[in-house]
Amino acid sequence: MVGDEIMYETLNIAVAGDARQCARLAELICEWLAEKGFENSGGDSYKLTLKFDPSVDREGYVFAPSERGGQISASCLSGLYAGAGHFLLGSRIYGKKLRPPEKHMESAPKKSVRGIYFATHFHNFYHDAPVCRVKRYVEELSLWGYNMLTVWFDMHHYTGMDDPEAKEMVSRLRLILEAARVSGMKLCLGVLANEGFSGTPDELKADWRAGQNGYHAEPMGHYHVEICPNSPGGMEQIIKNREEVCEAFRGVDFEYIWLWPYDQGGCTCEKCSPWGARGFLKTSRLVADACRKYSSCKFIMSLWYFDNFIKGETEAFKKAFANDDGYVSYILCEPHHQSGELPAHDREICGLGIVGFPEISMYGASPWGGFGANPIPQRIRHIWDIEKAEMQGGFPYSEGIYEDINKYIISRLYWHGDYDANAAMEEYAGAYFGGGCAGEIAAALAEMEKTLPRQMTPDGAALQNPAFCREIYSRIAKCDSAISPAARASWRWRIIYLRALIDNELSSNNFAKRQICKEAYSELIGIYHAQNADPWVRPPLQ
Ligand SMILES: [Zn+2]
Repeated sequence: MVGDEIMYETLNIAVAGDARQCARLAELICEWLAEKGFENSGGDSYKLTLKFDPSVDREGYVFAPSERGGQISASCLSGLYAGAGHFLLGSRIYGKKLRPPEKHMESAPKKSVRGIYFATHFHNFYHDAPVCRVKRYVEELSLWGYNMLTVWFDMHHYTGMDDPEAKEMVSRLRLILEAARVSGMKLCLGVLANEGFSGTPDELKADWRAGQNGYHAEPMGHYHVEICPNSPGGMEQIIKNREEVCEAFRGVDFEYIWLWPYDQGGCTCEKCSPWGARGFLKTSRLVADACRKYSSCKFIMSLWYFDNFIKGETEAFKKAFANDDGYVSYILCEPHHQSGELPAHDREICGLGIVGFPEISMYGASPWGGFGANPIPQRIRHIWDIEKAEMQGGFPYSEGIYEDINKYIISRLYWHGDYDANAAMEEYAGAYFGGGCAGEIAAALAEMEKTLPRQMTPDGAALQNPAFCREIYSRIAKCDSAISPAARASWRWRIIYLRALIDNELSSNNFAKRQICKEAYSELIGIYHAQNADPWVRPPLQ
């Protein structure tokens, strides 16, 4: 007993209705609790029932506690996962015993598009970690209420679909997508409109030069293998490439395919400019037609980086875009990333819903995740305050697991429509590290946002605001000795602890990279499986 609360030594899970669909969820609940130290010992027993109930609102859930048990009801698998998440995150483990949540809860999401985007490239975690770890991570996100996963098959890595590495990537993405489907998520694929393989012939290549046709800046991130749809044979090659990728993913039930203009992508030639209103639109419709031969997917059209390289692009797009046959379902637009901060009333295009693409990975520090956890609660809140009224949700941009806390905060914003970011961090800390230090950990995480901005130097990394690093480390070190052994050993804790340790080391030693820093970077590389990662996403050991 803790106070009047009963602790349980055994958890029994019963499934009412279609058990097959819930089999993995029942396993996952047991795995999740075991990771926190709970052991079924055959003593005092709690019965948790999972039930499909069509009367439960949308993708929401009802958690109804009863005598020595509780029931999670939902009308769909996504809701059942979110309900299980509520149960798990509200549970506490004391020693090997379980204290489940005791209050009745009914909850339904405010935003319908609660997606996540895995940037499956650069040999980051999603690209290189053992696939079982990525699948388990997908499941965790479903417990937090995420209901869509987007992945990208980044053609430029490969010579073509016969490339053995391309085949390996398709198999990997299929496994990750299947884990998402089994967790009740809808599946999405990111597609660059004029994407090309690494061997795109020179005569088909898109132009990326600025100083012509209205372009005052080069399209960012261009790989220089993209294809100009107005070059002779260019459009045919784009469609051929796309159909080959669709064929490789045949049978995957994509809900949405993203049509993406820049970063990477685009063409600045005379016939394609402005890309957003001409080359991109012309290509997108034909790419969509090609995709629909393979899947009953719908489309999300991205306005990413419109107006950043050429003026008047959004206006020109709005005039040229015709959605007569309704092939586009959503416009993806991230106002804080557009150069012109498109006013809210201008973002509505053909009455389509708007979804966002918030950045949670790269802000403030490069290499991304190179120093451990990167909580940015106030920044996330600031962006959401600009967007929340008209956005129907979005897809945070994720390069790995180091921004786990940011994903949790956004999951609360999408679910509730609005949420206190500090309260979200305290919930997170309580769920994953135990209730005893949750407030202290959340306070340290909030401080870490201030110390995040930094620049790499030849010998280390210079922090712009090093003042609080010692205090943060001292707080985190105190929590490190107070939390349970299982929590202390978990990767979620290690990436927080290592961030505090690295920052304290850097700020106390004139930003030099001493041996203790190198050991911390090395441990992070192991946690991320980033041994072969590109420098952007690899902790700066060398
Ligand atoms: Zn062109």
